[in-house]
Amino acid sequence: MKRLQEKIMNRSLKSKWILAVGATIFISYAIISIVLYVALQTWLLNNEEKNAVRTVDDLTSFFETQSSTVTIQKLQNNSALMKAILTQEQTVRIFNLDGIEVLRINDVTAAADFPENGQNELPVITRQKIERTDAYVIHQFVQIGPFQGIMQLIHPLATFQSMMQYILTTIIIVGIGALLFSVSISYYLANVLIKPLAQLRDAMNLVRNNGFKAQPAFQYKAADEIGDLLQMYHLLMNELEMSFTQQQQFVADASHELRTPIQVIEGHLSMLTRWGKNDPAVLEESLHTSLVEITRMKKMIEELLQLARREEVDETQSADVEAVYERVQKELMQLYPQANFELNVIGQFELVAISEHALTQILRNIMSNGIRYNQLQPKLNTTIHYANQAITIKIQDNGIGIAQQHLPHIFDRFYRIDEARTNKISGTGLGLSITKMLVEKYKAEINVESIVNKGTLFILNFPKK
Ligand code: ADP
Repeated sequence: MKRLQEKIMNRSLKSKWILAVGATIFISYAIISIVLYVALQTWLLNNEEKNAVRTVDDLTSFFETQSSTVTIQKLQNNSALMKAILTQEQTVRIFNLDGIEVLRINDVTAAADFPENGQNELPVITRQKIERTDAYVIHQFVQIGPFQGIMQLIHPLATFQSMMQYILTTIIIVGIGALLFSVSISYYLANVLIKPLAQLRDAMNLVRNNGFKAQPAFQYKAADEIGDLLQMYHLLMNELEMSFTQQQQFVADASHELRTPIQVIEGHLSMLTRWGKNDPAVLEESLHTSLVEITRMKKMIEELLQLARREEVDETQSADVEAVYERVQKELMQLYPQANFELNVIGQFELVAISEHALTQILRNIMSNGIRYNQLQPKLNTTIHYANQAITIKIQDNGIGIAQQHLPHIFDRFYRIDEARTNKISGTGLGLSITKMLVEKYKAEINVESIVNKGTLFILNFPKK
């Protein structure tokens, strides 16, 4: 059994499908046919038995209506009436009480056996084989005028048997036809449905061997589950290709950005080894620059790690925006004592659905940018608005602003506007991309509006806890 199961499991999907359909149809058809055949057989047999009994009853009534002087001889001479009561196949024999046949109507050769118990239990119905045909045989006492004897009715089941034979042949022929038909339909369907799966397997193999560019188009366009599967595969592959390309771009950008500080440090170190060792001013300046670059590199590596890390979002976390804001403001006041902060709160206090750590990073990045990209005395105006639908935080600075053409790119990794670079404002170009990543992770929104030389406004929309 186990071996058979293993054998079936190792067959192709097409064979399994056809086998399953064939077996299901065969078994259900066989069960229905057997039930129908047996029911029909019982019903018809019952009918035959009833017919035989009815004939016996009719004959008995016929004999009873005869005058008391009627004789067997008279009946034999006038057998037309009795023949009318019998069907063509039925035979009647009348015996005297000694078992000697005295009258026979219809078949001259038909001869049935007497019941084994003799005359003790009459009337009796038996089933016998007469001339290779089944028949019902009824034995009953009869009184014909003064004559007392036993009537034997032979009711052959030939019609019934040929009818059952005919039904059986029909069932078998129809069954074979239905089986062939269903197997060919399932073969066709299996072909139609399994073909795209085979194509999908080939497509996957092709991508595995030749990369994402080798994606073939599928011919199967139906809007069913298989069509969905193929479309899903295409979408998945496109997404994979996109993230693969992004990943490559990220690695390329990261190595490019890390190369600059390394080159600067390398330049200074080789200058020192050549002739700067004995010049304290050169030594001092080189060490300072190298330290600055190392700090920048360290920051960049930390930020890169942060971007690469895909932490799980904990949906149970929540943050108190005002408390987080206070902390970030305090931190920034120490770093930039010249900066000015103002906070407005509108509405009833509520918690925000984000971790305090993530919110701290978001506020720190936006607020420190407002201070750093600024040529005046930095002023940061923050509004926290607890509205019905969401909680909005607006951070307005009075900095150098961002030109329209740069606005769509400031959230890109390593994107720094030239002014930032030329004004030697230290940075990595990663702060806002980390901010955006965190904002999206917590299903929040970030928007930015800016006027050059006037300032920039960051608008954050957070879902409520
Ligand atoms: P970083 O500050 O490390 O360079 P960010 O991702 O935080 O990186 O910012 C990307 C760029 O967007 C900055 O280099 C700067 O040119 C510009 N920028 C961001 N915030 C402001 C702001 N408040 N005002 C002016 N320019 C900004």
